[in-house]
Amino acid sequence: MTVYKAPLRDYRFVLEEVLAVEQLAKLPGFADATPEIFAAVLEEGSRLCEEVLFPLNRSGDEEGCTYENGTVRTPKGFKEAYDAFCAGGWTSLACDPAYGGQGLPYTLNFCMEEMISAANMSFGMYPGLSHGAYRALMMHGSDEQKSRYLQHLVDGSWAGTMCLTEPQCGTDLGLIRSKAEPRGDGKYKISGTKIFISAGEHDLTENILHLVLARLPDAPSGTRGISLFLVPKFLVAADGSLGARNGVRCGSIEHKMGIKASSTCVMNFDEAEATLVGKPHSGMRAMFTMMNSARLGVALQGLGLGEVAYQSARAYALERLQGRALKGSAAPDKAADPIIVHPDVRRMLLTMKAHNEASRALACWVGLQIDIAERHPDPAERDSAEDLVALMTPILKSYLTDGGSEAANFGVQIMGGHGYIRENGMEQLVRDARITQIYEGTNGIQALDLVGRKMPVHMGRLMRRFFHPVDHFVAKHKAIAELQEFVVPLAKAFGKLQQATLLVAQRGLADPDEAGAAASDYLKLFALTALAYMWALMAKASLPKTAGDDAGFYLGKLATARFFMTRILPQTSSLLTIISAGAKPVMALDAEGF
Ligand SMILES: Cc1cc2nc3c(=O)[nH]c(=O)nc-3n(C[C@H](O)[C@H](O)[C@H](O)COP(=O)(O)OP(=O)(O)OC[C@H]3O[C@@H](n4cnc5c(N)ncnc54)[C@H](O)[C@@H]3O)c2cc1C
Repeated sequence: MTVYKAPLRDYRFVLEEVLAVEQLAKLPGFADATPEIFAAVLEEGSRLCEEVLFPLNRSGDEEGCTYENGTVRTPKGFKEAYDAFCAGGWTSLACDPAYGGQGLPYTLNFCMEEMISAANMSFGMYPGLSHGAYRALMMHGSDEQKSRYLQHLVDGSWAGTMCLTEPQCGTDLGLIRSKAEPRGDGKYKISGTKIFISAGEHDLTENILHLVLARLPDAPSGTRGISLFLVPKFLVAADGSLGARNGVRCGSIEHKMGIKASSTCVMNFDEAEATLVGKPHSGMRAMFTMMNSARLGVALQGLGLGEVAYQSARAYALERLQGRALKGSAAPDKAADPIIVHPDVRRMLLTMKAHNEASRALACWVGLQIDIAERHPDPAERDSAEDLVALMTPILKSYLTDGGSEAANFGVQIMGGHGYIRENGMEQLVRDARITQIYEGTNGIQALDLVGRKMPVHMGRLMRRFFHPVDHFVAKHKAIAELQEFVVPLAKAFGKLQQATLLVAQRGLADPDEAGAAASDYLKLFALTALAYMWALMAKASLPKTAGDDAGFYLGKLATARFFMTRILPQTSSLLTIISAGAKPVMALDAEGF
């Protein structure tokens, strides 16, 4: 069976002892966002996740969503859970008070998103997409759109979707065919078919707001000719009351590998009434707001699944009796030792633990930058934080979801054959985790975003936002004896990252295939260095506390940091070797040779 307890102690450590979350309360509008409020909100949220959402995870997977004549039913208990979720104010946490939000930091929302995904990833898709729609409208919507729609997304009574994908177009949005025709009254008619639309239809809310990419008649070809439209399921009158059903219907739902309780819909738009969001032909910009927010949300899904897989595998490894410890029995009174004595089982558990804990710190660090980018009074601080978020978004999306998937697979491995059996719950995590590596831009596309877009911006300005703090940390701490076992490996990995960056930038300029062939390995090298930075920060925070009340916690952190530095981080050497090999071995084979 899977088990889950929200990692509240770890949040306190990361937020209060490593990342100085108290700095947020000094930002305008965040006076209430003290560490105490963070702890109280997370504790309250953890109860909802553990007691309401987690128990619905297995049954939601077994039952799935059902489709009948254009309507979609979510599994038993989802509607009640969603109502409790809204009543508890969980849809409004980081939203603007002007629209009924609680105005709390994104950092806090990040932590909640991890917990929700760990407890029930399918459930989390519904409010997650609504929040993306909220952000897109907040940043690109007209005043009229904001006043008519936002409060409903904030209180959760209406949901949102993101309608990009069409049968002929997934990654390459330039191929979009859905059409938008001006009606002459400032509104538009949208026609076309969208596929794979998460939460496209369901029974949780009274209305659904679809954000749809489509082409105007005079649109240039490719992505420069795409506009963003708002298409409500039910039309909304000026006074906010719901009117007639709009020309958008769910044609069917997909039967898929995982997240079975999240509806994945074919949506048919037949002259549906729409309003334009932002300017004509600038839909990609607006949609990127939604996608970037969603990409970070997906990263947190990966982390959440990695955490629940780890906790469940740990519980199993402590109880399952098989074989004896290599150096002699650890539990001679029992028929066999618990499998946690075996080095290979420990290797898998520690890989999961080391990955999850550093990923959590990295995600919270980026969450803090989002809050600083939005609130800091100094424009230079805001710009710097925004750069760091832009740089780290593809890294988090790709690396945390690969990590979540790997952790779920380790979970199955640790449970042996029992992990493969459905009723034990672990195989669901493998199935659920798999999509996180695909949607919101596949992980391959995230790597291309990193080397193709983020790396060259302003002659590497974004890169320096990460390089400078690491460089500074290494310079400041490398001579401190007790920190050397953490700082020296970090410095070595950082050196390799710098070498790889130069290599990819130079070769990529001469031949784009060089950048393309290096991209995924380069992203991994970057991510490992970022996790090493987090482990070095966490080790520094833990070292002085190994004799106090909570010594076990800090000793555990140090042991895990050592495992990461010695058993995981050395992968950076082989990654640099692979990157150095260049594109030739990848591109040499003709298509017919495959
Ligand atoms: C369960 C589920 C939920 C989804 N939810 C939504 C949603 O809510 N809204 C929505 O609009 N879409 C949604 N999607 C669609 C999802 O975002 C796409 O499936 C994804 O972006 C990939 O597109 P594709 O499937 O067409 O693959 P393709 O684009 O055909 O890609 C196939 C392979 O080729 C690679 N590839 C493609 N182009 C390049 C390139 N230029 N360089 C290198 N490699 C490349 C890809 O990385 C991938 O490995 C969902 C999909 C699923 C399965």
